[in-house]
Amino acid sequence: MFVRVALDHPLPTLFDYRCDPEATPQPGMLVNVPFGKRMVVGLVCEVTAHSEVAEDRVRAVDNICIACPPLSTAWLELAGFAAEYYQRGLGEVALPALPQALRDATRWTRLLAPQERYRLLPAGRAALPDALPVRATALRRLADELANAEFLTAPDARALHPKAAATLDGWLAKGWVALEVIDAAAPIGLAQPIDTAAPATAGPVAVSASSEGEMVAPTESAAFSADHARSVSRTSGGRSPDTLAAPLLPILTDEQTAAVSAIHNANGFAPFLLHGVTGSGKTEVYLRALAALLDTDLTAQALVLVPEINLTPQFEAAFRARFAALDDGAIVTLHSGLAEGERARNWFAAHTGHARIVLGTRLAVLASLPRLAIICVDEEHDPAYKQQEGLRYSARDLAIWRAKQLGIPVVLGSATPSLESWWQADQGRYQRLTLARRAIADAALPTVKLIDLEDERRRGRASVDGLSGPLISALKARVERGEQSLVFLNRRGYAPQLSCDACGWVAGCPRCSAYVVLHKPERALRCHHCGWETRIPRACPDCGNVDIAPLGRGTQRVEESLAKVVPGARVLRIDADSTRRKGSAQALFSDVHAGEVDILVGTQMVAKGHDFRRVSLVGVLNADTALFSHDFRASERLFAQLMQVSGRAGRAGLPGEVLVQTRYPRHALYHALARHDYVGFANATLAERRDAHLPPFVYQAMLRAEGRTLDAALAFLLQAATALREIPAAERVTVYDAVPLTIVKVMNVHRAQLLIESASRAALQATLRAWQPMLRALKGVLRWSIEVDPLDI
Ligand code: ADP
Ligand code: ZN
Ligand code: ZN
Repeated sequence: MFVRVALDHPLPTLFDYRCDPEATPQPGMLVNVPFGKRMVVGLVCEVTAHSEVAEDRVRAVDNICIACPPLSTAWLELAGFAAEYYQRGLGEVALPALPQALRDATRWTRLLAPQERYRLLPAGRAALPDALPVRATALRRLADELANAEFLTAPDARALHPKAAATLDGWLAKGWVALEVIDAAAPIGLAQPIDTAAPATAGPVAVSASSEGEMVAPTESAAFSADHARSVSRTSGGRSPDTLAAPLLPILTDEQTAAVSAIHNANGFAPFLLHGVTGSGKTEVYLRALAALLDTDLTAQALVLVPEINLTPQFEAAFRARFAALDDGAIVTLHSGLAEGERARNWFAAHTGHARIVLGTRLAVLASLPRLAIICVDEEHDPAYKQQEGLRYSARDLAIWRAKQLGIPVVLGSATPSLESWWQADQGRYQRLTLARRAIADAALPTVKLIDLEDERRRGRASVDGLSGPLISALKARVERGEQSLVFLNRRGYAPQLSCDACGWVAGCPRCSAYVVLHKPERALRCHHCGWETRIPRACPDCGNVDIAPLGRGTQRVEESLAKVVPGARVLRIDADSTRRKGSAQALFSDVHAGEVDILVGTQMVAKGHDFRRVSLVGVLNADTALFSHDFRASERLFAQLMQVSGRAGRAGLPGEVLVQTRYPRHALYHALARHDYVGFANATLAERRDAHLPPFVYQAMLRAEGRTLDAALAFLLQAATALREIPAAERVTVYDAVPLTIVKVMNVHRAQLLIESASRAALQATLRAWQPMLRALKGVLRWSIEVDPLDI
């Protein structure tokens, strides 16, 4: 008997191995096989009686993973589709989608072992870390982790502290922590019904808490569905008192009700575009749609995708609170920020059906979910859904495919849908659900005003450090009234350039064709492309002039200026630099929510999804640069970002105001923004795209090449373009000139790209398939890759 196995290898073929029939191999099983001189884990795709490979060349399977139930045919099809569509080998898609623990056969036996994990109890929360010696840093870290994470597994604890087991035993005896034993490999079907009127013992948590009574088993009956909402008065404002175990449900607005029932009544594959203005309560729609489904089908699973899970703690909290009556461990997250062990466990919970709700980032779209019944994609327009390396897939597009494959509803939510999705809805392929009003009765959309910087200058009202007079006054007024403001600019660091007035020298990266960014607090010049860093020089390295000065403005500089022009204001900066440490983003955001901040300055990080309740003013700096980009999607992205960030203002009661500083106050994009007119913007931009033959009216693919020199990269692309002429399907494909990337050199590697496009997706796909083997035969570059549906041109 033979198995045909997919391996994580660029060749798009399956590899044959001999297998003992007694081992009953099945498609979807993982096997450990010899490959060259190594052993690797592969995925069984077929089981056959014959092999084309010569008898003496077929090697034998070493080991089959019995700890992991086989991946379903549907999942194999999903991986197969992604591989084919994105021009990759099946194994290159399937294996990286699995948790690391499954890809290492030496760890398979441990998978079956029950998982021990520790949870901090209230008594421990009160006692720790004060009970620990000040210098016991490792112990303190252990206590810290326990306090921050929901639980800590025994191996993770050991990794933090070599004697963790003994310490935790001590804490267990003191009643500070509880020990739980989870049987991760328990088969599907044992998943506990949500209705907790049924005894809460059938679930996978086997228990052994030393201090009983503290480990909370949900006691309230599940109050998920809309019916329970009736008794709750609207005046609660939708916020449930934290003390109640079963959350109060807000009364849905008419628009929300219509959306929920459309989703609920859907039959089979049903793609929805939930277009809801910021603050219209899209989350509530997902919650109700899920509740309705999970209430009626006690084994159904839901997948909810968000662009960046670390930035949406409120989102996760809302799901955990609403579905608190679900079995422990029935809501899991999947994202790259998880520790490896936790990610494996969560993946397993999804794969075995224990997890009823999977909340995750783009990688979760490839999770194994045997009972998947609904998918929600929040902020579906977000570019973060596109993987930018390796398999360059769009999680949103794969979500649609998956829903179609399974015949289930998929909800794409956004205040500013991608033009691709908007166009699908225009054509009637997606059903549009509109939430035009904010959910909270007294929260109107903010007024948007444009501050004409040229006009300010002509009137002799100079800006101070890039902050215009009207913006400064508005900020001061908010501070006086005790309201919060948000200042948005999409550039981190202190200044994007450091230059010498005397000779024109600008600090550049030695490895990239890019300027380095000045980071003042860190006293460093840093390359944002490769991470190269150096100290700020005292004088110009070219002419010795000591008067070298920063050019332009980043968040650090604006933070500094704000402290100067709005004296006494508590200014907080949130960007990739200030949140580098794990968990620090959450801490900073809590400060904002707690009202400990007057002015928040930040990059798009602050624009995404946060429900800031006291922000009444948003200032936008430096948005103009994106208006004239060579990338045709730049204006779509800018519009979405500005709508998002504007949406942070005036969410609860306080009237919101948005001030945009610009040199182009008459630009159509700003006009649409001022009128909150996504529809007008989308329709106008789509019309332009149609005239210009741009996506979504054509389909594109990008061939990128990286060489030691630019010439090498361009020569490769030229040969590639010539090869295209031999492909019949390429007759319907337009080939553009090979061009260097905007930042042509990164890490001493030179990069160029070749764009091809077609009005026919099938022609483009056929061309790419025929092209691949030709490209493999070409030489002269370090690397090349194909990206289908590229987002960055
Ligand atoms: P969006 O994701 O559309 O920007 P959110 O889901 O963040 O909006 O909702 C905005 C706020 O409105 C949240 O505080 C939410 O709790 C509240 N909310 C949602 N639906 C209702 C409702 N029907 N009644 C009252 N408040 C609601
Ligand atoms: Zn100089
Ligand atoms: Zn660099």
